[in-house]
Amino acid sequence: MIKKPLNNLTGIVLNISPYGEDSAIVVLGTTNGLLNFVSKHLYKMKNAIKPLSNIGTLVNIDFQPIDETMNIATSANTILDVTSLYSSLASSSFLFFLAQLSVLLFSEGDYYPLNDVEYLLNSLKNDADPLSVSLLLIGSFYKSLGLVQNVNSCVRCKRTQNIVTFDLKSGGFICADCLDNQSMVKDKEELYVFKFVFSEINSINVNRKVPRYSGMKLLKELTQYLLEYYDLKKCESLELFMNSLI
Ligand SMILES: [Zn+2]
Repeated sequence: MIKKPLNNLTGIVLNISPYGEDSAIVVLGTTNGLLNFVSKHLYKMKNAIKPLSNIGTLVNIDFQPIDETMNIATSANTILDVTSLYSSLASSSFLFFLAQLSVLLFSEGDYYPLNDVEYLLNSLKNDADPLSVSLLLIGSFYKSLGLVQNVNSCVRCKRTQNIVTFDLKSGGFICADCLDNQSMVKDKEELYVFKFVFSEINSINVNRKVPRYSGMKLLKELTQYLLEYYDLKKCESLELFMNSLI
């Protein structure tokens, strides 16, 4: 049986690259992974696909598939308007970090955590702390990519007492008995933030505010681990986002 081609999807605008005179190729993050859409005359004043012209906007899109990798956008409606986030340096920098990291890490066919992303953008619009939101995003990306970290017990002996550090390669918390290098010991605040990163994305957690120093340290460490794990180039927008938080 021939599979009927998809022609309507929900996604978030992650990348816009110029194409031809006034058109663009827009990358959307969808639950079917990242998909490309030729967006004709995107920059014209009146346009049925105008919502595709802002990074971070959640859209519902009608389209026609051209081939395996490309589609043509025919119309788009805004589901979540993020223009208010552009008025603050921290939240606009977060949008670009979210978009760039998504494009680096996910490709077509991967599961992209669109629901988590939508939830986090909504909470940011309601004044949640950008740093804490970015950490929950990183946690969601780790889970979606299958890089689960154990934040409930020691990854080596499964005991829950005397957790003194975590190790990303080992997959989570490590207790004092299983520690093989004293210099790895981390302070309580950092262990708390690590657990927060992998906590559930819900109304309680999105309104928490992590301690700044440990939060920034972990944001950098967790993002760099992802980039190294997938052998990716550095993510410039991480620096911009971190500078916007100082
Ligand atoms: Zn242990």
